[in-house]
Amino acid sequence: TPLLEVKNLHAEIDGKKILNGLDLVVNKGEVHAIMGPNGAGKSTLSYVLAGRDGYEVTEGDVLLNGESMLEMEPSERACKGVFLAFQYPMEIPGVATMTFLRAALNAQRKTRGEPELSSPDAIRKVKDVAGQLGINMDMLKRPVNVGFSGGEKKRAETMQMALLEPKLCLLDETDSGLDIDALKVVSEGVNRLRSPERGFVVITHYQRLLDHIVPDIVHVMSAGKIVRTGGKELAHELEASGYAQYQQEAA
Ligand code: ADP
Ligand code: MG
Ligand code: MG
Repeated sequence: TPLLEVKNLHAEIDGKKILNGLDLVVNKGEVHAIMGPNGAGKSTLSYVLAGRDGYEVTEGDVLLNGESMLEMEPSERACKGVFLAFQYPMEIPGVATMTFLRAALNAQRKTRGEPELSSPDAIRKVKDVAGQLGINMDMLKRPVNVGFSGGEKKRAETMQMALLEPKLCLLDETDSGLDIDALKVVSEGVNRLRSPERGFVVITHYQRLLDHIVPDIVHVMSAGKIVRTGGKELAHELEASGYAQYQQEAA
């Protein structure tokens, strides 16, 4: 059974059709990149997979380990191991990053029927993960994402992902606006998490991230579906040729 199977997925928002028969199979251990022009529906795909409100699936199915996710709330999907790193992470004023991460960790343990970690244990675990990723401990004291630079937001998100050890990691343009140091933190975080038990869908407009997170399979998305699939060399080809040919095909 594949980790993720997206079958003929059609989805719309506010009555506007965005996904038009998308198929995708991700097996455990694989890293897939999804590339494509702006407006292709890449973020929409990640939101539909995560179960975000407002997106209506009109046809098709999404299976996680053979089980349909479409009727599941976002929290249930998260509990089953789906993690979405947003293109635009949310700010949470008044909640320290450490507090947020401890709460996320314990919420996950609770839904899995595992005992909550004591404060010292939870703090130690968060600090461990932050340390492994070379993240400044000062960040843990600041309110979640408030006043963070683009790079700091992505670091914080990578830290959350590493802490929660998801089965399926969806990264939506995690590289946008990153300087080279932040890009390394994010890609090292992802590469550390690569395992035979885990799958990744890395959405990116640019080839640059894929020098650091080397994908097994690269897809081109245009007008709401996958229009081409290849190996990692496809990303280099796209870097050279651009997306114009795919935009024309879509039109
Ligand atoms: P990508 O991430 O590939 O750039 P998106 O998934 O963000 O693409 O957007 C795909 C299309 O859906 C775009 O044409 C965009 O304008 C449209 N779209 C996205 N969100 C909404 C919305 N809330 N209402 C109407 N149209 C939307
Ligand atoms: Mg976009
Ligand atoms: Mg997007």
